Amino acid sequence: MDALLLAGVALLLASNPSPAPDLKQLERLQAQYAPVDLTVDVSSLPENEQKALARLVQAARLMDGVFLRQSWAGSPSLLLGLARASTPLGAARLHYFLTNAGPWDRLNNNRPFIEGVPDKAAAANFYPAGATKEQVSAWEASLPPEQRATASGFYTTIRRAPDGSLTAVPYSLEYQGELALAAELLREAAALTTQPTLKAFLAKRADAFVSNDYYASDVAWMELDSRIEPTIGPYEVYEDEWFNAKAAFEAFITVRDDEASAKLSRFGGELQGLENTLPLEDRFKNPKLGALAPIRVVNSVFSSGDANRGVQTAAYNLPNDERVVNEKGSKRVMLKNVQEAKYQRTLIPIARVALTVQEQTLVSFDAFFTHILMHELMHGLGPHNIQVDGRATTVRQALQDSYSALEEAKADISGMWALQQLVNRGVTDKSMERSMYVTFLASAFRSLRFGLTEAHGKGVALQVNWLLDQGAYRVEPDGRFSVVAAKIQEGVRSLTEEILSIQAKGDRERARALLQRLGVIRPEVQRVLDRLGHVPVDIAPHFTTAERLAAQFP
Ligand code: ZN
Repeated sequence: MDALLLAGVALLLASNPSPAPDLKQLERLQAQYAPVDLTVDVSSLPENEQKALARLVQAARLMDGVFLRQSWAGSPSLLLGLARASTPLGAARLHYFLTNAGPWDRLNNNRPFIEGVPDKAAAANFYPAGATKEQVSAWEASLPPEQRATASGFYTTIRRAPDGSLTAVPYSLEYQGELALAAELLREAAALTTQPTLKAFLAKRADAFVSNDYYASDVAWMELDSRIEPTIGPYEVYEDEWFNAKAAFEAFITVRDDEASAKLSRFGGELQGLENTLPLEDRFKNPKLGALAPIRVVNSVFSSGDANRGVQTAAYNLPNDERVVNEKGSKRVMLKNVQEAKYQRTLIPIARVALTVQEQTLVSFDAFFTHILMHELMHGLGPHNIQVDGRATTVRQALQDSYSALEEAKADISGMWALQQLVNRGVTDKSMERSMYVTFLASAFRSLRFGLTEAHGKGVALQVNWLLDQGAYRVEPDGRFSVVAAKIQEGVRSLTEEILSIQAKGDRERARALLQRLGVIRPEVQRVLDRLGHVPVDIAPHFTTAERLAAQFP
């Protein structure tokens, strides 16, 4: 069956020279993703809300089909062929196709893993086959301003008209069939729910699927204040590797986590007090912190399309449309049960390798997640608008290429400093004190696995090496790491002070020197990383609650 399918596909496609992985290799690739059941307790939702949730899951499933087409026109046919395959190799290919939402290995530079599949096109299926980036660019530049904005905007594909000329097709036409079905389901859900802001968002998003105007529904999404928190539509632009302009369809159907939301608002009340006591000269402190960007902690019932391919999203910031961001700001959504699954399947195995046996017992999800929350909040504290040589500027502008890594390190390290303050003040339980330092150490190895090219990794390397040099981390003779209780608080405080001082002064040279010296993988860290080969890189979720809802409310 495979051979038949591939012969057909191969005729249409350029052949790929490197041999495709065999069954054994595919099984190894698949093992990078630990399968997990993603469940959410929705029993406290009344039946009408559960029914609305079931309709939203149905709508979200339609995003899978649209996204497949957006990423490659050949995917739906290839998928059907794989689904009919009867050999173990065919089954392994199907499984890995589903994990990656396409025939390319997203953990390995998008290498095709099925014979006959072409390299992943940077243009995806947003631009006409055969067109070049330069042609599209030149054509867009030739258009009057309003048409140019539409053609280069989020919500159009570029196609060839019958006369061969280029033309912009709105998503509402290009994906009309799927979007009509999705809009109907969103309207059914809107009729079922009694939560007013949810009703408003769903009705407006259904309209947007038809009108192609997403503005009002993006605003309604920012104003959502309901137990069901859906994100559905065209959002992220990574799949368009030509211009990062075209939005890929995705959905996250989630339910608010009330316990974590309460913790967030408790921390929110402490932020000004934390700012006032930062280890930073008083003249650099902000006497009145601005309003917080909204943060939602939710549990994922179902995700699809661009939101369920390769490595799973654990948090996102939306919308991307600057008109909405300028008017309403953006919202950060954190998927707690996804984070917990990643924690169980990747962080715990890493801790077993990286930490001493005694330290392993202190690692906890509560510490892991509470620190992530604090990391997000601490981005809002410390210097942002600064003076350099008497000139007003921002930390971002002043530090340039060192900004991101240093800002991520700041949020991590000052997040631990802040949690220690809250423990000292009795706001947070004393048990947090030991577990958060140890849990952060284990999670540092998780981040370092992904390398130093990205800001988070470099920022983490800086912290690990600083704390090693301060004697706050110790390497045991067997290579395992541990936290030195007597020194960790001072180590965390001193690095927080160092980074805040660099940011306050906009000292680019000191930032560069610090990252150059400490943003590296040292041999003792590498030895631990080398032992992590067997630990999964990420999770492959199985949405059990969504399946149960589908069966209960067909
Ligand atoms: Zn961050």
